[in-house]
Amino acid sequence: MFEGLKALPQDPILGLMMKFREDTNPDKLDLGVGVYKDEQGNTPIMESVHLAEQQLLITESTKSYIAPAGTILYNQRMRELVFGADHVVLKEGRIASAQTPGGCGALRMAAEFIQGCNADSAVWVSTPTWANHIPLLGGAGVTIKEYPYYDYEQNNVQFDAMLASLEAASAGDFLLLHGCCHNPSGADLNQEQWQAVTELCARKGLIPFIDMAYQGLGSGLDEDAYGVRLMADTLPEMLVATSCSKNFGLYRERTGTLFIVAGNAEQAANAGSQLFNKIRSHYSMPPSHGAAIVETILSDTGMNQQWQEELQAMRQRIQSLRKMLVQKITATGIDRDFSFIEQQFGMFSFLGITPQQVAQLQRDYGIYIVDSSRVNVAGLNDDRMDYFVNALVEVLRR
Ligand code: PMP
Repeated sequence: MFEGLKALPQDPILGLMMKFREDTNPDKLDLGVGVYKDEQGNTPIMESVHLAEQQLLITESTKSYIAPAGTILYNQRMRELVFGADHVVLKEGRIASAQTPGGCGALRMAAEFIQGCNADSAVWVSTPTWANHIPLLGGAGVTIKEYPYYDYEQNNVQFDAMLASLEAASAGDFLLLHGCCHNPSGADLNQEQWQAVTELCARKGLIPFIDMAYQGLGSGLDEDAYGVRLMADTLPEMLVATSCSKNFGLYRERTGTLFIVAGNAEQAANAGSQLFNKIRSHYSMPPSHGAAIVETILSDTGMNQQWQEELQAMRQRIQSLRKMLVQKITATGIDRDFSFIEQQFGMFSFLGITPQQVAQLQRDYGIYIVDSSRVNVAGLNDDRMDYFVNALVEVLRR
């Protein structure tokens, strides 16, 4: 039966990762894969995570099963982190939540839930969006439609075109938005734009579906949740998928959360039961370790404080790298404006160079970025900045 199977093309980012590993160029630089890196180019375990793990080693008393929704405490702490402890949806109990295997698990379970609600509902995604959104949502059978989002000429959000295109959405369609740190563009909605999109959802009966994989890496933990909280203030229903991969550095521990906000507590409980049923039939229940670390940190004042300080240091490093990159490119005297990089958020921005120029960076300098020219700014550091800027300017001048 298997002899007729053909090999599928490799995922472009995972392929890039492998090519980088095999490259023997001593100057090679990986700006492709989407993980945070420190000044030494490592993706270390956060100190607060280490502390929580040490505590768990002593206090954890069983490895018995948890539940399809994960633990009560993890879900509670994540609700508080994402919505704010005093938010009205928490007070009114209008929310169901589940601990999931990473943000990917949350997105896929959201898609399964949407299919179960109404198989005719489409999910509208930004152009461009994170490449894995398409298989994660499409794999559940959801119809995907696209709205224009990033303007490659102006290097910012083409907001008017986005709103105009969403006029074609039908009541009951879901609108996938990036809560902060848009991947791949780094271009986020500002507060007025969030307000306008909220009004559009209310007027047209669209249900927001917010993917927030980078809370705390843009402007701050509360600032980055502005859109989620505003929409939850105003609209009766929404979905929110979050990830602890980046802000807790828990990538391989597969830790995420899916929230369903509903019109009242009874509807939320019913929606939750549908979701838990989907989870049971997919992976039964989520892995425990990452979520146990998160709930330990968020439940302890000292560890929480330490985690927030570590997260702030990561955020500030990214912001200062963005600034330094723009300064150094400008200092070369090249006749091209890269100042948009400083205005964008999170780890990613498009350099706006051609696929040929991307290939030249790889071939001639061992600099690995994604074909679309998405660059992981966090992969740079003080030592490698000049090497990168010189290579970029060299390639642009050819
Ligand atoms: N959404 C977006 C936009 C992402 O960039 C990522 C991670 N790259 C995820 C979701 C999922 O993250 P994970 O499954 O690793 O938690």
